[in-house]
Amino acid sequence: MTKAVYPGTFDPVTNGHLDIIERASDIFDELTVAVTDAPDKDPYFGLKERERFLQQCTTSIGNCEVTVFQGLLVDFCEEVGAGVIVRGLRETNDFLNEYQMALMNRLQAGEIETVFLAASSAYHFVSSSLIREVATLGGEIDKLVPRVVVDAFGERLES
Ligand code: ADP
Repeated sequence: MTKAVYPGTFDPVTNGHLDIIERASDIFDELTVAVTDAPDKDPYFGLKERERFLQQCTTSIGNCEVTVFQGLLVDFCEEVGAGVIVRGLRETNDFLNEYQMALMNRLQAGEIETVFLAASSAYHFVSSSLIREVATLGGEIDKLVPRVVVDAFGERLES
């Protein structure tokens, strides 16, 4: 049985992330989506809120669970018994960062393999940071993020 972890900040989850989650859950027997706190990035949404968005969007995927994690990713993978880290690749900038991270993780734990899934063409331009920028300026994001995220921006911007 192959268990995989898909880690990220998910601030907030986008349809690009959900596309990776659906495809990874078809490939691996079990998938854990692991939401990082990432205080250095000063996230717009809180950790528990980001976890809740993901939980609400993945209820129909039987082999997928969502949780938060702190500390080294490879330690978390070992804790949950995962041998694979899943990451999404959009364009060349992603590749450089992701490749560095994959090599560092391999150095920490050589038995854990990083697997990259190419972003779908419909979402390759979508990033959480662009979504935050457009949403907070009052732009249209409905086709790029799940409903729960559209609503959360609405509530946050009204308050
Ligand atoms: P992190 O801070 O770990 O990069 P993100 O939430 O930004 O967290 O991204 C998590 C993972 O999802 C990364 O591997 C990133 O490349 C990937 N990703 C982000 N947006 C998309 C997208 N639109 N399509 C496919 N993969 C994506």
